Amino acid sequence: MDAFEYNSNPGRVVFGSGTLKRLPEEVAHLNLSAPLVLSTPHQVLQADLVKELLNNNVAGVFSEATMHTPTHITKKGIQYAKANGADSVISVGGGSTIGLGKAISFRMGIPHICIPTTYAGSEMTPILGETVDGIKKTRSDPRILPGTVIYDADLTMTLPSAMSATSGVNAIAHAVEALYAYNTNPIIDLMAIEGTRALATALPQIIADPSSKPARSLALYGAWLCGTCLGSVGMSIHHKLCHTLGGSFNLPHAETHTAVLPHAISYNANETPEAMIKLAEALPESNGNAIHGLNVLLQKLQVKRGLKDYGMKEEDIDKAAEIAISNSYWNPRELEKEPIRELIRRVWAGEPAR
Ligand code: NAD
Repeated sequence: MDAFEYNSNPGRVVFGSGTLKRLPEEVAHLNLSAPLVLSTPHQVLQADLVKELLNNNVAGVFSEATMHTPTHITKKGIQYAKANGADSVISVGGGSTIGLGKAISFRMGIPHICIPTTYAGSEMTPILGETVDGIKKTRSDPRILPGTVIYDADLTMTLPSAMSATSGVNAIAHAVEALYAYNTNPIIDLMAIEGTRALATALPQIIADPSSKPARSLALYGAWLCGTCLGSVGMSIHHKLCHTLGGSFNLPHAETHTAVLPHAISYNANETPEAMIKLAEALPESNGNAIHGLNVLLQKLQVKRGLKDYGMKEEDIDKAAEIAISNSYWNPRELEKEPIRELIRRVWAGEPAR
């Protein structure tokens, strides 16, 4: 076996169904007396549920979390937190709400309890992406990582099927890029394979029956493992392209990941044979071919495959290719302009990956 390094991210995880009721214990365990509860306007009911569970012993509910963590909202949240004497934050929601929780907790130096309700995986990473005047900047710092994560599958029951599908594929993307990361290791490999297998099994079941608790629970478990992959090793072309496309053309996060993933894998496939074998083994009905396995999964999930369906214009393809190769980063295959342009064109058109 080759030598490797493994850094486990600190953090406590409480996983299950109905685990939200463990929140008061967790708050007491950390000696917190005035947490500020965060959500999007869409999930204010879940934020109110958290407040009730804590017998209203909260600094308040701030429900203005929004996509891409704009710093003007963070500033407003911090003002609210200070004015109400908050000693911690509790984020209940997807990556947008967790991003706000990270931004406030990092700047104020206060604990963060995370209650994720999508499969995006931000709760498991020390990464914070923020938007200032429309430009997204990302930083990584161990102090950004939430200290406690409560996974409660019951809170994911309301995640609409279409979003469950794309959010789950977003999670699989973390695992795929971990399998061929320059700094991957056998422990992360285990999580990537198990996380992919769990999601690839659970997501079609959720599409068939969104009220299936076992499927919801399995998907959330997979999302946790895949989020750990994202937080532990370096990501490559898939994540960089999605960042470029999402940020430059205002495309939705999980849907963009879903459209790009098979094409990004195909771009790197010849340089990553071992990762392709492991991925094929984790994907049902792959017949030993990872790209085929992913195409089958996306078909079952009935997701849109083309970025043109989300408003990207054909003339943006060249601009996207320019931006994509302007930043250098590690990738298993060299970044070549024409093949990358063709990759983006295929994603734009929604052609299946080959
Ligand atoms: P999101 O948090 O933007 O949620 C999308 C919508 O779905 C919101 O209106 C939300 O309130 C709603 N929603 C969430 N859970 C729900 C539920 N269970 N039931 C009903 N509605 C629900 O979407 P996301 O894909 O989770 O997060 C995307 C954001 O997270 C992006 O900005 C992305 O950059 C960021 N992200 C960051 C990291 C990181 O490590 N820093 C990792 C992954 C994603």
